[in-house]
Amino acid sequence: MAETVKVAEVRPDAVVFADGTTRPSALTIWSAGFAAPELVAASGLRTDDLGRLLTDETLTSVDDHRLVAADDSAAPSGQPLRMSCQVAGPLGAQAADTLLSRIAGTEPPVLDVGLVGSCVSLGRHAAVRQFARKDDTAQNFHVGGRLGATYKELTCELGVLKIRREARKPGSLRWVKGRRQVTGPVTAAAPATPTRTASPGR
Ligand SMILES: Cc1cc2nc3c(=O)[nH]c(=O)nc-3n(C[C@H](O)[C@H](O)[C@H](O)COP(=O)(O)OP(=O)(O)OC[C@H]3O[C@@H](n4cnc5c(N)ncnc54)[C@H](O)[C@@H]3O)c2cc1C
Repeated sequence: MAETVKVAEVRPDAVVFADGTTRPSALTIWSAGFAAPELVAASGLRTDDLGRLLTDETLTSVDDHRLVAADDSAAPSGQPLRMSCQVAGPLGAQAADTLLSRIAGTEPPVLDVGLVGSCVSLGRHAAVRQFARKDDTAQNFHVGGRLGATYKELTCELGVLKIRREARKPGSLRWVKGRRQVTGPVTAAAPATPTRTASPGR
């Protein structure tokens, strides 16, 4: 097993590492990671190592309270959630709520998202659905094969349904909540908003 080593080339029957070592491979699975848009890092605002905007728990930039980040571009409290559609939906709603609160002059809600697991398709007829605790640690339970593929398909359809419903009825999106363990200090730029509590609809 080789970890944190750089791959320089993938051949049909082998993987070549940056130091020139070649290892035979009957099957190579290339799992690419996600990245934040370069716009955030180019703005000069503070970001995390992956270029996500550093925000407080309302997704407001720690450098400028007029800027709110959403989804894969946000690093709330420097402890971002896993880049995924599962997180992007609730974070998009959170960002909208924060903007509406700013406009209304009310206190924005803080982030409250729990995860339920992850699902990986293996072709059209198989998938692995790994269940997780709300803090994204894996549970000792998964569903695989065709049942996993059905689960994945339903998840995708549900995602589209949720987007359509939110477009028809703003503010209708619901998601799994979960206590977020923030260990570092939350240092947002102080917004000039009065502290009246309200829950604006999106
Ligand atoms: C191949 C692939 C498979 C994936 N599979 C899964 C999965 O199975 N499950 C899962 O949970 N997640 C999956 N993801 C991740 C998921 O799609 C992302 O985490 C999610 O879409 C992030 O949402 P977002 O709103 O941050 O970004 P996006 O959905 O990428 O939306 C960003 C939008 O901003 C636009 N944009 C970018 N720069 C600018 C600019 N300068 N000006 C104007 N517009 C701009 C882009 O065109 C885009 O429309 C997958 C991603 C990929 C690439």
